[in-house]
Amino acid sequence: MVEKYSLEILNRPDLFYQLINNMTDLVFLTKVHRDKSLSYVILNKPAKDLYGLTNESFGKPIKEVLPTNTYHIVKSKYEEAMEKKKPIKYEDMVTVSHPSQNSIKEVIYWESTITPVFNQEGECTHLLAIVRNLTEQREKEIEIQRIKDRFELVWNSVADATFTFDKDQNIVSVNKAFEKILGWTAEELRKDKSIRFIPEEEKENLSKIIERVKNGETVKTHEVKRITKNGEIIYFLGSFSPLYDKNGDWDGGVVTYKDITERKKYEDMLKELALHDPLTGLPNRTYFSQCLKIEMEKAKQSKLLLSVFVLDIDHFKEINDTYGHDIGDEVLKEFAKRVKKAIRKNDFLARIGGDEFVILIPELTEKANVIEIAERIQQYLHDNWIIANEIINITSSIGISFYNQFELDEKTLFKNADLALYEAKKKGRNNYQIYNDQETG
Ligand code: GH3
Ligand code: MG
Repeated sequence: MVEKYSLEILNRPDLFYQLINNMTDLVFLTKVHRDKSLSYVILNKPAKDLYGLTNESFGKPIKEVLPTNTYHIVKSKYEEAMEKKKPIKYEDMVTVSHPSQNSIKEVIYWESTITPVFNQEGECTHLLAIVRNLTEQREKEIEIQRIKDRFELVWNSVADATFTFDKDQNIVSVNKAFEKILGWTAEELRKDKSIRFIPEEEKENLSKIIERVKNGETVKTHEVKRITKNGEIIYFLGSFSPLYDKNGDWDGGVVTYKDITERKKYEDMLKELALHDPLTGLPNRTYFSQCLKIEMEKAKQSKLLLSVFVLDIDHFKEINDTYGHDIGDEVLKEFAKRVKKAIRKNDFLARIGGDEFVILIPELTEKANVIEIAERIQQYLHDNWIIANEIINITSSIGISFYNQFELDEKTLFKNADLALYEAKKKGRNNYQIYNDQETG
């Protein structure tokens, strides 16, 4: 039904044509003849311009006025609309060459809606085609896709394991390096909300970092420890940056993990070297000194006895002189092994000089306990030594001191054991002496 006010436009064909000629969409009204042939009855200006149609084109079969290719597509779509008895929509892409501009080729995307019009007998009398140029929209979409593809390429080319998380700290995306290094895919991490690649002991620190990121801070070069899918520990330098949505509100963050496991291993090796004796693998003097401080503090708290043993191999120079330095080294290694076997796990054995060793013995309930320990060490040393296919005799002198007067400092405690050792050497070696603290009051 035609609205009352619309009648005016039907009586004003000039107004009607002005209206449709100013439309950006292309309008084609096609008459369907009884013999099923088709001819245009209304074309707006943009429609005429596209195919170079003129007023002469009206009434002629569209087969004669349209380019052959176009005609075939149009015909089949018109037939489809007539058959379905309802509007149909389709898209196509046309490459247009511009002879005036060095034959530059332009791709145009069209979206056509074809509406069949029926009379009271149910016969299709007309077809209305509205064709919209979608080129701008499609080009925008293609550009967005291109940017997305580019981003994905960059994202996956980054060598550092990288991921993004949302406001609720759920993983949103991970890059290829992340998958390769840590073994988890984004999907796995999204499905299982508990973040399994973060060790328990790191969680508190992570919360603090996230808090800073929430406040707009980029937290860089934080050393972090993470667990791979295989349960391996990997060390990273983490960089945590905030992300914001279109409105400028905080929307999670992006994290990059730079793998420093190799560097960490190297650092650990250096640390190990700095604190250990390379020959026997035992802690060295520096390590011993650090440990002694800690044990003295513990003993002060627990009021349990702490004892220091200083051991020096008897006549070691002779071993070197008789068998050579290499054999001397073997003796030192074997000596370390035997003493280690003779003491408890909690006791701390270190090599502090050439043939000088020290043992920290914590948590003794009474002084007399050291006698048993010293005798056990000597017994372990007493067993046959077969070095360079020869049976040799190795003994050690032992000086023992106690940390029972809590005002004693580290140096004095050590010096006291050394004095006792001197006593042992004086008394003919292969024996132990306990520093007599009565003398010092
Ligand atoms: P004493 O019974 O008085 O202890 O006599 P000693 O011959 O054992 O004399 P001292 O403890 O003073 O000598 C230790 C020797 O250990 C001196 C040095 O040549 C040797 N030495 C030091 N470091 C090493 C080492 O790494 N390897 C070897 N083979 N010998 C070492
Ligand atoms: Mg010696």
